[in-house]
Parts: sequence; structure tokens; C-alpha cells
Amino acid sequence: MTEDSKAHFVFKPIIRGMVISESTELFPIGKVYCVGKNYADHAKEMGGKVDEDQPFFFSKPPQAVTQLNSIPFPAQTDNLQHEVELVVFLKSECSDISPKEASQHIFGYAVGVDLTKRDLQTLAKESGKPWDLSKGFDNSAPISKIQQKEGFLLTEGNISLRVNGQKKQSSNLVNMAWKVDELISWLSKFITLKAGDAIFTGTPSGVSRLSLNDKIEAEIENIGSLSFELVQ
Ligand code: MN
Repeated sequence: MTEDSKAHFVFKPIIRGMVISESTELFPIGKVYCVGKNYADHAKEMGGKVDEDQPFFFSKPPQAVTQLNSIPFPAQTDNLQHEVELVVFLKSECSDISPKEASQHIFGYAVGVDLTKRDLQTLAKESGKPWDLSKGFDNSAPISKIQQKEGFLLTEGNISLRVNGQKKQSSNLVNMAWKVDELISWLSKFITLKAGDAIFTGTPSGVSRLSLNDKIEAEIENIGSLSFELVQ
């Protein structure tokens, strides 16, 4: 044993573990990427269109991911909005791979909500500044239990979200402009993806403003459901 291997951390490293459906093991969350404008109807409601040449990505810190059922209403916003999304989780490292090679790196999927401070995002867009604080705040990425589907490429299934029982978003994964394998491939050309990394794959139309005490229920066919409340 070398001297180096005896070195220890100045404080305990924080590794966040996410619950996997029907498993006692936890999924350690790594990097979290999100794709923008991946459903034509949502791109349109945001005043844009799907990027046909290549998808664009932003990221959230791993600490944004949560499976809490009660989420404190975030500060510094007057327009918090929901975006229901399929989230794909990776189980192995890959770099510069083709879409065909992508499936083998898939660990599984979850239903996620990309919580967005739309007012801050709009300001950032208008002034050409980064989106980080409008997208990557505490608990901004609630997810359901992870459904283990190793090596499986998910291409269809209903995706929906309700607020206080009222349906707000409803679509099908077939409407994604960039598919899961294409998103993994694109990202892998720019960064090395690792086991633990997650990708939020974009939202369909129907995003809307959330209020304190709202109950959000999201569902993806064959993947699961997610439910949380915005509390004080
Ligand atoms: Mn989103």
C-alpha cells in the first residue's frame, strides 16, 4: 500500500443514492444533463422550434435530483413551472459512440420533472446569460423510483402530468424529436458519460405555473409515476 492510498477526504464525500424499483440497492447519481426543445409542441409554446441539426443541452447539479414527496417551494421566483420528462440513467462509461452503441449503456428510466424558474430563465435568455440558476436549484429535479431496464431502448409510451388532479401535460414518447439513443450519442461526443449519469429528455407542451401547496402527479407508461407536493 502506498502512502497515497492511505489519504482520506477532509470531509465525507456526498454521494446521492436514488431508490430503484424492486431493489434494495441504490443508484448513485452522477452528472445530470437535460435536453431543451425536444417536443415540437413545447418548442412552439416557448416561441421556438426543435433544433433539427443537433440537440442542445444544459445541466443540473446532481444535488438537484430528489425523491422527496414534499418539496419546499423554491425562493427567488414568481413563476415556477413543471416540465414532465422521461429520464434515462446510464450504467457504464461511454465516449464518442453512435446511436446504435447507446442502448448497451442504459441502466433504466424514471419519470422526472424539470422544475424551472421561468421568470429567471426568460431574463437569462433575454440578456444572453446562462440558465443555471433558473434550472439547477435545490430539488429542481424530482424523479420517481428508477425502473431497471438494462440495455433497453424506450421509444414509446404515454407521458402525462397533473396538477391538483387537473391534466396539464399529455403526450407520447414517440413525439420526441431526438430519441434516447441519439441523445446519449450526441452527449458522448462532447463529454465522457459515466455510470450514474442521467439525462432528462425534454418535455411536451402544457407547462404551467405552480403555486404553494400544489400537488404534482406525473406518469410514464411502463415506467412508473411520481407524486410530490410543494410545501412551505
Ligand atoms: Mn426541460
